[in-house]
Amino acid sequence: MKLCLVAFNGKIPLLSSIVGRFEEHVSEYLDEVEVERKREKLPEHAYSEVRDQYLASALLDILRNVKGEYDRVLGLTSEDLYAPGLNFVFGQARCPGREAVVSVARLLDPNPDLYLERVVKELTHELGHTFGLGHCSDRNCVMSFSSSLLEVDRKSPNFCRKCAGLLRGNLKRGG
Ligand SMILES: [Zn+2]
Ligand SMILES: [Zn+2]
Repeated sequence: MKLCLVAFNGKIPLLSSIVGRFEEHVSEYLDEVEVERKREKLPEHAYSEVRDQYLASALLDILRNVKGEYDRVLGLTSEDLYAPGLNFVFGQARCPGREAVVSVARLLDPNPDLYLERVVKELTHELGHTFGLGHCSDRNCVMSFSSSLLEVDRKSPNFCRKCAGLLRGNLKRGG
């Protein structure tokens, strides 16, 4: 499974640690994980001055154009993201699809471990969506919906048994 982690311009704190931890974590679920890193420019047309946020789906469009034989392309940005009708989103994904994006803007914490754990959870969550997984009612499952940091911190970075099974099934079908 070849993953491309795309850092949008602007500093992503502890990016190397994020890549290392994420690779290790998803290797529990995916075979032969390889993570490659790239950089892309933020699409300025995606910026809303009124909201001081970027439109998440516009970043997904940029990721769609990332060339390479990648199974999944995951973006990371330090800018805050929104989707129509929502004040903000931690991330967004094509479900199912190849692209997903996560914002670290609201995940920052003085404790680096807590910050890294949050980013890995949200990346894993969006990755799950790319494999067609929906939101899970198990609040401990990484696929449970989070609309606040409290909910991010409450869930584990792991897929519950049901979601792990769905993921395996989708992988077998060539997800
Ligand atoms: Zn979600
Ligand atoms: Zn679940």
